[in-house]
Amino acid sequence: MKKKRVAVLGSTGSIGINTLDVISRYPDRFEVVLLTAFNNVQLLMQQVRQFRPAKVALSQVHLSSLKAEFKGRIKFFDVGKDLPDLVAEPSVDIVVLAMSGAAALDPFLSAVRAGKTVAPANKEALVMAGDIILAEARKSGAKIIPVDSEQSAIFQSLEGHRREDLKCVHLTASGGALLRLPKSQHGSLTVEDVLKHPRWKMGAKITVDSATLMNKGFEVIEAQRLFSLTVDQVKVVIHPEALIHSLVEYIDGSMIAQLSVTDMRIPIQYALTYPDRLCSGLNGIDLWKLKQLNFAVPDLRKFPSLALAFEVARIGGTAPAVLNAANEVAVEEFLAGRLGFLKIYTLVEQVVLLHKSVSQPSLKDIKEADAWARETAVRLLRKGK
Ligand code: MG
Repeated sequence: MKKKRVAVLGSTGSIGINTLDVISRYPDRFEVVLLTAFNNVQLLMQQVRQFRPAKVALSQVHLSSLKAEFKGRIKFFDVGKDLPDLVAEPSVDIVVLAMSGAAALDPFLSAVRAGKTVAPANKEALVMAGDIILAEARKSGAKIIPVDSEQSAIFQSLEGHRREDLKCVHLTASGGALLRLPKSQHGSLTVEDVLKHPRWKMGAKITVDSATLMNKGFEVIEAQRLFSLTVDQVKVVIHPEALIHSLVEYIDGSMIAQLSVTDMRIPIQYALTYPDRLCSGLNGIDLWKLKQLNFAVPDLRKFPSLALAFEVARIGGTAPAVLNAANEVAVEEFLAGRLGFLKIYTLVEQVVLLHKSVSQPSLKDIKEADAWARETAVRLLRKGK
């Protein structure tokens, strides 16, 4: 069997680590050809020793330490600039987009244009420019197989069914770290409080986004783009056990769901082996021990970010890019201890309200909106001090 040649962008983050874990189970099926990371050089070096990729991209400041050890055997590149070219090379079959943030947009587009299979865990790029990415994929024949657990669940639940029979999708939300905490206490939350996610172990940015439910808001927009849905066809339901990863509802009233233990290796492996399924070493949910599954309506007053994301999804155009950029700035400020938890929402909302959305945007429009939103957020932060 010809090995699938995999590029892992963001290999030292939680999705990247899990991706390499999946790959290490099947060395006869996969070959790692490219690893990239920003700052975690120690872990990156370990991964390079284990997987021996031909190419590695990282921040230039860390380059010298790696070059010394792997001189001549591995080619090194600049993560800030070379990713779009690297993913488009003929030596790559699948690109796992495990890096977070808007930086994933250019490599995503480049991989899609080159007709690669792309497995995105990153949602920022799809939120910003999902329509453009999907249109390019249709042109080139590139496959996009989502890694995000909710989108993977929808993808899996759509397999073997006719798209015209689809009524809507239901995204499940575990509710994040603050599901049961009264709103009156949200103002005094520290970074540490917010980073304790009850179900998933993830990077800091996405854990904060999960606490505000902005993550779910992004997933609404992501699902809309990935599966060509209207805003009204995407519903959100709180499901604290996080065992049903999402559901699809058909016109006859049937609902198809995907359930599994909360382990990202399942959706990652499915994206890598699609349409095959391989043994993952994980078992199904023990239904005899499972007492109940709970569901609730999301509280939009407690978590206004989700309501804002729905509004932005309806506006469309460049508004989602602005939502994403303002949120990236706000979350960074929060993580640095310079912005209160509730101010994340206030800042993002202010920037969104100031924006005049461009409909049917070009990539240039989207990038300009992104830059404008970041500048505006920073300006508002300065004014607030
Ligand atoms: Mg998710």
